[in-house]
Amino acid sequence: MKIISTIAIDGPVASGKTSVGLRLAKKLGFNFIDTGLMYRAVTWAALRDNLDTSDQRNLTDLSNGLNIALINDGNTGTSPKVLVDGSDITASLRSPQVEALVSAVSSITGVRSAMVKQQRKMAKERKTVMVGRDIASVVRPKADLKIFLTASAEDRAKRRYEENLSTGKSKTFDEVLDDLNKRDSLDTERADSPLTLASGSILIDTSDMSK
Ligand code: C5P
Repeated sequence: MKIISTIAIDGPVASGKTSVGLRLAKKLGFNFIDTGLMYRAVTWAALRDNLDTSDQRNLTDLSNGLNIALINDGNTGTSPKVLVDGSDITASLRSPQVEALVSAVSSITGVRSAMVKQQRKMAKERKTVMVGRDIASVVRPKADLKIFLTASAEDRAKRRYEENLSTGKSKTFDEVLDDLNKRDSLDTERADSPLTLASGSILIDTSDMSK
């Protein structure tokens, strides 16, 4: 019998990774790690420090020195809180400024190395459901279960648009679709650890599926 200790879920923006990952983690009593929040935290810190987000050296140094903690309040099925150097920055991580820069920041190899190191350590400490873009391909290629979620760009944009309406963000559907397409391109076309269907991953199309 195979004992499952790591589940990797990859996929593009709004493909359902967080919804599925949180539920799985709750059901199994696993730790939930959303690696996208870590790249968002680096981007937030770069903006806080007024760094040029294309400066690879400064961004790498920043990532290596950043103390990021993902706090899961038990297995409540809710998204984790993110602490940077002890301060709760969760509310700032989905700001338009972070959203606009996170994919460029994530394309920097030094940033990725620093995050992947922390992610591997976290996955070794506890049974984990880890979600992101490169979990099955780079971070945990030997994960016991690897899932790749996808959905049409229109379906994904509709989900984000509706989420935005409920949180008071005022972007038109076309703007949301445009941002999503830009982020998809940067994430799939970057040289280091692009979003890809890793060997052994199960592909699930969540278009038309509800939360
Ligand atoms: O998942 P989320 O949309 O919050 O991720 C934000 C961004 O972080 C992604 O668009 C991608 O650029 C980056 N990311 C990444 N590798 C991961 C997770 C996220 O490059 N494992």
